Amino acid sequence: MSAIGFTGGWLDRADAVRNDAAQVAALLADPAARLMTLNAGDPAIDADGCIAWTSLADLADDATPIFLGLDGKGRPHFAESRPDDVAGPARSRALTAILDTMPAAEAAIFGTVRSITGWHARHRFCANCGTGTTITRGGWMRLCPACGAEHYPRVDPVVIMLAEHDGRALVGRQAAWPAGRYSALAGFVEPGETLEEAVARELFEEAGVRVTNVRYAASQPWPFPGQLMLAAFATAEDSALTIDAKEIEDAIWVTRDEVRAALSGGSGARFLPPPTYAIARTLLEMWVK
Ligand SMILES: [Zn+2]
Repeated sequence: MSAIGFTGGWLDRADAVRNDAAQVAALLADPAARLMTLNAGDPAIDADGCIAWTSLADLADDATPIFLGLDGKGRPHFAESRPDDVAGPARSRALTAILDTMPAAEAAIFGTVRSITGWHARHRFCANCGTGTTITRGGWMRLCPACGAEHYPRVDPVVIMLAEHDGRALVGRQAAWPAGRYSALAGFVEPGETLEEAVARELFEEAGVRVTNVRYAASQPWPFPGQLMLAAFATAEDSALTIDAKEIEDAIWVTRDEVRAALSGGSGARFLPPPTYAIARTLLEMWVK
């Protein structure tokens, strides 16, 4: 099974350093320090499809450095937060191509940077009183100078799941996706819900399927813009579908053989699977193993 996308980042986040402004300043003066820059939300990559790091000499005049952590040799790594950073989930076609081949551990670090810079771009003002806030804690907090509120990077939990019934799994598609692509159904967890309850509610809302026996499978950070995908399997009571056309365009039950054919990319496959870096792909791989 392939590595789960956006997981396995190789930097020690060194939280204690973030809290010490003098230590952060010393690391910013380290000539070995590395910098990652984004161009309209896309990373610069090297010939191996990995992140092309540069030096802090390339830090833009209008940028605030974000401390990402230390590598195995103790070298500090930074990203830059800029006023024109991409705030939302939009992905360029070039980025989609980059992610198709970028190793998961590299994508994990890119995803961290894309998420935190997007969060800064969306949270320039205090949610409590509306005053402009300032970046602190090495880039991992925003502080309101007026009311003192502390704002931390936000992560939104999303459930993504395969319902199973009688040897078949349920996959669906959204109208905006590439033709033929089907994937696991998904939805945001709401306040007051468990993971299991969110899985059951979303499957019923989107496809009219009642499930029991929800089993957690794996998780993945999704940086467009800042979700934590919680992947699960569930057992459907029956196979009747009532599709909510506002949420999905279609949903179908597929067999293991059909999923294997889709994952292997054969031209006769019943559907086009999710990209390799999506945890929905991992769920399908786990299901046919
Ligand atoms: Zn405030």
